[in-house]
Amino acid sequence: MGSMWCGEDRVSAVAGTATAVQELDEDQRAALDACVVAALALSSSEGEARGRMRLLMECYGRYVRSFGVLASAPSYEVFTGRLRGTRVADLLPGRPQGSVLDELWLLDGDGMPSSALHRLAVEAAEHGHQAPGIGADIRHLHSLLRAVGMLPASTGLSRISGETVQHAVFRALRAAGFEAYTRGREAMVRTPVLTRRELSRNTVLVELGAYTKISPTRQFGGLWATCPMCKWTMRATFRPSGAVDLECEDERHSLLGARYRAELAAESWRLSPRGELRTVPELLPVEGCVALPYALWLWVTLPGLLEVELRDRLVASGAQVRLWPFGDAYDLHVTRPGRSRTWRVDVKTWADPYGLAQKLREDPEGPGELCFVVPEHLRGYLPLLRRAVRGSGARVLTDTDLVAEVEGA
Ligand SMILES: [Zn+2]
Repeated sequence: MGSMWCGEDRVSAVAGTATAVQELDEDQRAALDACVVAALALSSSEGEARGRMRLLMECYGRYVRSFGVLASAPSYEVFTGRLRGTRVADLLPGRPQGSVLDELWLLDGDGMPSSALHRLAVEAAEHGHQAPGIGADIRHLHSLLRAVGMLPASTGLSRISGETVQHAVFRALRAAGFEAYTRGREAMVRTPVLTRRELSRNTVLVELGAYTKISPTRQFGGLWATCPMCKWTMRATFRPSGAVDLECEDERHSLLGARYRAELAAESWRLSPRGELRTVPELLPVEGCVALPYALWLWVTLPGLLEVELRDRLVASGAQVRLWPFGDAYDLHVTRPGRSRTWRVDVKTWADPYGLAQKLREDPEGPGELCFVVPEHLRGYLPLLRRAVRGSGARVLTDTDLVAEVEGA
């Protein structure tokens, strides 16, 4: 299985973590959880050192227990040392082979958090809410899920899936009526960061309570900067030199150039590009802004980007488009004035095409006559995805193909 990740490379590896975590046994999951929280405690400078030390010891205790009585766990020193630059799979009891966990690490050799670390904290860690930094985002998500009745007080907080979060948020928005639902959902896609004043004008979003303070992991010196691609707050990593690296949490955005370095010159911070993108975003004050927490950016904003962009492109080419029609049965209802043809489009942005193929196969509704649209960069996976829906009447095409088809109809 390892080799299947070479195509869409590390981006797929990070996106495939949820599936890989599901395949672990209980002890391996407990060990992973302990390692993730310990890595966050090790790489953070937030709060007092004593509190972080206590948390590290607690994680080590859980880590040792996960090895059971027969196998021997490494010492505390070895444990904390190995969190740096060790593949995730090699940290777990029984060293599970052949999953994406073989290709990810929590901290790099310098002890800097990897892009998988925050994602694993949100997706895979039962104790992620305890961690410094990202923990605030996770606690906010939990209180939101409780408020909309999706997380009974008695249940554990572990491993909240994308489906659970989407279901909870969309159901809560729909309760406010179809108009408010569409407006609220579109705002969460297009503006994952708002000023407090802008937020106060959107009653549905205020009531949903989705936005929160900008996470300490994505600010520095009271400032933050937006990713040019998704408009969310970029992660801030403090370098020993005193510079701060800013990078979108989305690996694809980062690879495409959402990577900058902030340096202090004459008492003000200056951003310079570290990737191919030459446009430099503005540095904005944290005060007065609110942002979606990590999980809502991951499961509402990111998948929505292609949906709203596709809508804009289709409308510009003369089509009529309804976004998220009929209680979210699919994403776009497309017609062309004066023509009889209709497209029912479901946009699938998963960077993990194998997980997507599995999902398409398992869809209890049956894909029917839907068009599944995947981003252009997944074109190479069309044969795989088409095999998954064979015989169902559904089609799979890329966004570019769909726009050309609608224009030519
Ligand atoms: Zn981004």
